[in-house]
Amino acid sequence: AHAAEAPATRTTCPYCGVGCGVLAKPDGLGGATIAGDPKHPSNFGRLCSKGSALGETLSLSARLLHPEIDGRRATWDEALDAVGEGFRRTIAEHGPGAVAIYLSGQLLTEDYYAANKLFKGFLGSANVDTNSRLCMSSSVAGHKRAFGADTVPGTYRDLETADVLVLVGSNAAWCHPVLYQRMLAAKVARGSKIVTIDPRRTSTAEESDLHLPLKAGTDTALFCGLLVRLAERGAMRAGFVADFTEGFDAALARAKEIAPDAAATATACGLALADVEAFFALYETTERVVTLYSQGVNQSSQGTDKVNAIINVHLATGRIGREGMGPFSLTGQPNAMGGREVGGLANQLAAHMGFEPEAVDRVGRFWNAAAMAKADGLKAVDMFDAIERGEIKALWVIGTNPAVSLPRADAARRALAKLDCFVVSENVASNDTLGAGATIRLPAAAWGEKDGTITNSERRISRQRAFLALPGEVRPDWQAIAGVAARLGFGEAFAWRSPGEIFREHAALSAFENDGARDFDIGALADLDTRDYDLLEPVQWPARKGVGRAESRFFAEGDFYTPDRRARFVAVAPLAHAAEPTAPYPYRLNTGRIRDQWHTMTRTGLSPRLASHIAEPFLEISPEDATRDGIVDGGFARVSTEHGAAILRVRVDPAARPGTLFAPIHWNGETASHGRVGALVHGFVDPFSGQPDAKATPAAVSPV
Ligand code: SF4
Repeated sequence: AHAAEAPATRTTCPYCGVGCGVLAKPDGLGGATIAGDPKHPSNFGRLCSKGSALGETLSLSARLLHPEIDGRRATWDEALDAVGEGFRRTIAEHGPGAVAIYLSGQLLTEDYYAANKLFKGFLGSANVDTNSRLCMSSSVAGHKRAFGADTVPGTYRDLETADVLVLVGSNAAWCHPVLYQRMLAAKVARGSKIVTIDPRRTSTAEESDLHLPLKAGTDTALFCGLLVRLAERGAMRAGFVADFTEGFDAALARAKEIAPDAAATATACGLALADVEAFFALYETTERVVTLYSQGVNQSSQGTDKVNAIINVHLATGRIGREGMGPFSLTGQPNAMGGREVGGLANQLAAHMGFEPEAVDRVGRFWNAAAMAKADGLKAVDMFDAIERGEIKALWVIGTNPAVSLPRADAARRALAKLDCFVVSENVASNDTLGAGATIRLPAAAWGEKDGTITNSERRISRQRAFLALPGEVRPDWQAIAGVAARLGFGEAFAWRSPGEIFREHAALSAFENDGARDFDIGALADLDTRDYDLLEPVQWPARKGVGRAESRFFAEGDFYTPDRRARFVAVAPLAHAAEPTAPYPYRLNTGRIRDQWHTMTRTGLSPRLASHIAEPFLEISPEDATRDGIVDGGFARVSTEHGAAILRVRVDPAARPGTLFAPIHWNGETASHGRVGALVHGFVDPFSGQPDAKATPAAVSPV
């Protein structure tokens, strides 16, 4: 009763990139009562089904509560000694390129910062990558090419003040539900229109004013055709293009080669000409347009070009950084953005800096680093291929389950078994990655127990606060990282006493000798004292000086982050798939999320309420294809690719595009028949971002 009377803790949902504020109060029975935080500017009190069910997912019964070495319980000292010795020995014998760390968009910014600093500043290895590579790295690469830095120019409020919202490769109704509810509310209040561009007729598509069910992978052609149309009609903002951008002529010339007119666009995309014309007309005649994009854009072998084809149109019309306008990347994970900010990608050093010699020097001096990494490390898929080849011999995985979620997941699992030193920090006592041979297991603090910050899709930093005691011997990840650093002789640089101290250091690094930040109050958060950090309200960062930190947009008057402060149009490549269907594998397999599960279900799988939405993995197929292949609705089918097979319940969907299959990503288990579809996905990646193509693997299907 005493616990129930305590005030609710203001924290943040650990699932999607919307970043909803949550009020959590322990119920005294091991769970918690959960409500939306009415004061949080991301959700104003709303929560979706996953967020609402958080209180049902706090059971300790399946938790990893003590360190383990080789299957026996160990003390933290023994475990950290073993990790330190494993990494020290590997570097001594094979060099820093033989060690790696694989992180998660679920981690807090402070955990990310600590891991990045240890590996890139003190072990000399840039092999620091994250499951965010599978989620939004094509958006990162597209932003950098166009803007000179990875920046989301707009805010959530733009989605409420736009007159047209274009959702590309995004089932926001299921994957970003609260933000989608904000869009729907604006639609009712203001009469805004929603266009969905997606091969599938998703819940979002169902509710749209216009659905363009284009052929997989042809988004670039659609936006090239749009650019050509806008240029021909004089519907551009020529002054913006002339004053603030470079490369328009080349981008337009390439667009004309790919999609010279509406008819060619319709043909390339497999769309009805009338739908293409309707989309073009809406875009041409509406000033306030926001184009949102998510995994259908990012998870593609041409994902970065898709992002740039979208941004090209916004640059051409000057619809960027102004109220109700702009390109908008919807990040999948709660802290993909925070991870990006601190350098949690192998091709970023820290604080949005790459590996330019000046940046390496600057960060090295700030950290007083022992051994700076000087060049990009290996991105996720390349990292696991290097493990398979025996080139990476020591790996630390924190808060993610690559044996399920990576493409070619069976190959990833086999690779993990080859490691000399395999460390996993986890909440749960068993999952596929732990089962793939993790010899050192570190019990990590879970949501409700850990304390730090996350950054959502609109660059808003929110506190995630603890409201439960740390159970057993679990520790926050940053403490485990600092403990290993100390054992390797770097204790002084990792002597933080709280996550607030790490956050201040991260903010100070962002501002350190940072000429590009002259117009921003980027260093302001470096001055927070412990109380300020504890009480920190959700804040967008960076924000322009004088605008205040409440809300901030970028690029309305140019001032991009390129050396000449001008944006870049990108001449995108002609359409090409990484792999075409073949006679043995005539379909394209698309994979994605469902409404009520999260990633590999280690948490959402604990809620019976969430399981009641969709209780088992499934395969979506068109009626024509099902009839031809003898597949029956409600029966089972075997779907296979060159990389693996799964047996799934069939859903014949009249709206499915013939030649395509869809299966959800969440289920996992020891055999493919449990629906572990990551094992089926091919390993092709986008050449700029390294993001895997998870939407178009050639596949076969047969009745069971
Ligand atoms: Fe959590 Fe996303 Fe749902 Fe908000 S919309 S409650 S952040 S899962």
